[in-house]
Amino acid sequence: MLKYELVVIGGGPAGLSAAVEAYEQGVRKILILERDKELGGILNQCIHNGFGLHRFKEELTGPEYSLRYIDLVKDTTIETLTDTMVLEISEQKVVRAISAERGYMEIEAKAVVFSMGCRERTRGAIQLQGDRPAGVFTAGTAQRFINMEGYMPGKRVVILGSGDIGLIMARRMTFEGAKVEAVCELMPYSNGLTRNIVQCLDDYDIPLMLSHTIVKVHGKARVEGVTIAKVDENFKPIPESFKRIDCDTVLLSVGLIPENEITQNAGIAVDTRTSGPKVGELRQTEMEGVFACGNVVHVHDLVDFVSEEGALSGKGVAKYLKGELETTPNFSTANSDGIGYVVPQTVNLSNVDDQVTFYMRVRSVYDKHIVRAYQGDTLIAEKKERKFLPAEMVNFKIKKEILANLADGEIRFVVEEV
Ligand SMILES: Cc1cc2nc3c(=O)[nH]c(=O)nc-3n(C[C@H](O)[C@H](O)[C@H](O)COP(=O)(O)OP(=O)(O)OC[C@H]3O[C@@H](n4cnc5c(N)ncnc54)[C@H](O)[C@@H]3O)c2cc1C
Repeated sequence: MLKYELVVIGGGPAGLSAAVEAYEQGVRKILILERDKELGGILNQCIHNGFGLHRFKEELTGPEYSLRYIDLVKDTTIETLTDTMVLEISEQKVVRAISAERGYMEIEAKAVVFSMGCRERTRGAIQLQGDRPAGVFTAGTAQRFINMEGYMPGKRVVILGSGDIGLIMARRMTFEGAKVEAVCELMPYSNGLTRNIVQCLDDYDIPLMLSHTIVKVHGKARVEGVTIAKVDENFKPIPESFKRIDCDTVLLSVGLIPENEITQNAGIAVDTRTSGPKVGELRQTEMEGVFACGNVVHVHDLVDFVSEEGALSGKGVAKYLKGELETTPNFSTANSDGIGYVVPQTVNLSNVDDQVTFYMRVRSVYDKHIVRAYQGDTLIAEKKERKFLPAEMVNFKIKKEILANLADGEIRFVVEEV
């Protein structure tokens, strides 16, 4: 049986960063398994710019960003196997995988990093009414067709959902000569980054229809149009507002789901708030020696934070392999009013260098508000922003010296008016 100190499942930015950091911390026998033809993950299809502003202080395209990490991997003894799909891992951390070239494989690992990313919600997931004509795609599939495979999915488009992928595809389809009739968004606010609304819709006069949805897709063989409607405060379509838009293509940008079948089959509990495994400060999961990072833990807005989280898990792996990883947590985290989730879910202070970054998302749009961290009634720290938006992840840093003065217990995050 093949034997490695660390097996990384998924060769996207999270997995690459985890492997590079573990290597820098002295772990030598590392294998990255990637089911796609090449390393880089979803970034390979994101040929627009805007990546790496935090990490590299530069505006890179997705492939440029991932190439920086692929080059770092190439400078090491880290091994990679592409075209290789991991099926499951056993309780003893035997990784079972299948590859076109090598067939079925069993790999014994001392530590494993889960970095399988996310997949998109589909038409079935949102139960979109109508027949099943050709021409309904997730925005990411359309992105892959255009940017990697060289196919144009359609000419007249309606996009449902204003997540970043949908916004970016509105601009991309326009560049390629299609007409984007509208982007419909169920919520009264967009689910994409502000910069993407400006650069992808406003700059091209593409209408963003907030509090709107598609109630029906028309067409038998190919999409011929959609009926859209305004929704009330309970998200119910208002019949008087029904309006038909002729189009040949519908793109769905209705959310991402962390890809956690392997996690669940390994018996690792998934947090219902994040749909990813519960993790500690170095991204250790509930299963000893198994770590997780990137979109498989929670949906990130910027890849820079994915790389940061990957590096944390790489540090965790190195500590674990040296027998230095402390396991009993001092703190658990909780989300209170206005906060959707908090990662990490637990913190062990002995594993922390100088600070902990808590990633979280707010549930709604908040003006003139502040995010605060409490233990019981005691205010620990706070974070101000001009505006808090569900689309923009909040990075809330707390110094180790502040946490060291607290009793073990729960840290609760809450949005409060100022
Ligand atoms: C359309 C789009 C636009 C974006 N725009 C921006 C932007 O402008 N700026 C920005 O900073 N970020 C952007 N992002 C976000 C950023 O790209 C992601 O946050 C990041 O790629 C997530 O990294 P990851 O490694 O966690 O997952 P991924 O990149 O999804 O990588 C996961 C990898 O795991 C592999 N995998 C999954 N399951 C298995 C298995 N069983 N066996 C083997 N391999 C497996 C997959 O093939 C994949 O390669 C965008 C994302 C998308 C989709």
